[in-house]
Amino acid sequence: MANVAVCVLGSFGYDRAAQGAVGAGRALAGSVGGELHVLVIGPADEEAVAAMAAVADRVVLGANEELRDVQPEQALQAAEQLHAGGSGDYVAVLLSNDTYSQEIAPRLAHRLGGSSMADAAAIRMDGDHLLAQRTAYGGKAISIYRLKKSPAVVWLRARGFEPAPEQPSSGDVTSVDLNLDPPRIRIVGREMAAQEGVRLEDAPVIVSGGRGLGGPEPFQELGKLADTIGAEQGASRAACDAGWVPPNWQVGQTGKKVAPELYIAIAISGASQHLLGMGDSKVVAAINTDADAPIFKHCSFGIVEDYKAVVPLLTEKLAALSG
Ligand SMILES: Cc1cc2nc3c(=O)[nH]c(=O)nc-3n(C[C@H](O)[C@H](O)[C@H](O)COP(=O)(O)OP(=O)(O)OC[C@H]3O[C@@H](n4cnc5c(N)ncnc54)[C@H](O)[C@@H]3O)c2cc1C
Repeated sequence: MANVAVCVLGSFGYDRAAQGAVGAGRALAGSVGGELHVLVIGPADEEAVAAMAAVADRVVLGANEELRDVQPEQALQAAEQLHAGGSGDYVAVLLSNDTYSQEIAPRLAHRLGGSSMADAAAIRMDGDHLLAQRTAYGGKAISIYRLKKSPAVVWLRARGFEPAPEQPSSGDVTSVDLNLDPPRIRIVGREMAAQEGVRLEDAPVIVSGGRGLGGPEPFQELGKLADTIGAEQGASRAACDAGWVPPNWQVGQTGKKVAPELYIAIAISGASQHLLGMGDSKVVAAINTDADAPIFKHCSFGIVEDYKAVVPLLTEKLAALSG
């Protein structure tokens, strides 16, 4: 039987990106008539395991405590051993969009004798081969890759995939005793970046600002709009590079890849590198003084106007609607 596996990093929790990867795995397994197995690298809380078991045919836990502080070398070993401890005959091994999965994927493919692809926006089987799709040339083209060797080890775009529906009965949960080498890197300290609200990659609504705002102060005005509609704030690279907002607000090719239900682009021109980060948004609304700005070719709603005239009014009207 051709099964599909999805690797989830236990200490990261069962976040939206992991749910999307599991959803993609469920669809792929369904298309080949196989089972979906979730391979959990490191300890995960009970609630997360139950949520995974509700949508998978099998959950394989590798709950070694030393994997709580994820280190790529050990996570790679764990993934390899969990792969063998699962059914070991997967046509595809999917990972979600995080830096560890990105590092592990090609190395895991090499160890399993398979092939690898990064940042897939869509996947499907074509006979025995996986076809994986991703954007190229700054979002101007789509390239489709045929992964010739099995298993196809692929990490997926965040939020590009819907979570899986719950199955009539929960999948089995089994454990594998992992045999890990001691870590080669010793973590001597950890400093967490302040994180308010949800991660940009997981946000259902984003209000982003660009260079056209002219400085850091207008981002406070955009913040009021964001608070009113329960959105997170993002920005173009130009605004981040200018130091108006933190670098982790950047959306785009070299920033965060987001796919919210609603993306509001304010004073952002819509350069291809920016579009690459938010092109999977369900609905895009743009406010820009330039009617010819490229962003208007990529939005469902557009207002050609100075943001100063629109944003306070929009905030007021939306507050009245929600209040
Ligand atoms: C390798 C590479 C990687 C890159 N990665 C990224 C990336 O990850 N993310 C990213 O965003 N960019 C990225 N860029 C930069 C990208 O090419 C653009 O330069 C950048 O996105 C422009 O940002 P912007 O739209 O805010 O600014 P601009 O292009 O300067 O646009 C400002 C817009 O504001 C409008 N405007 C001006 N005043 C007002 C007003 N009062 N009210 C309303 N609208 C107004 C203007 O009409 C204009 O359309 C990358 C570039 C390269 C080469």
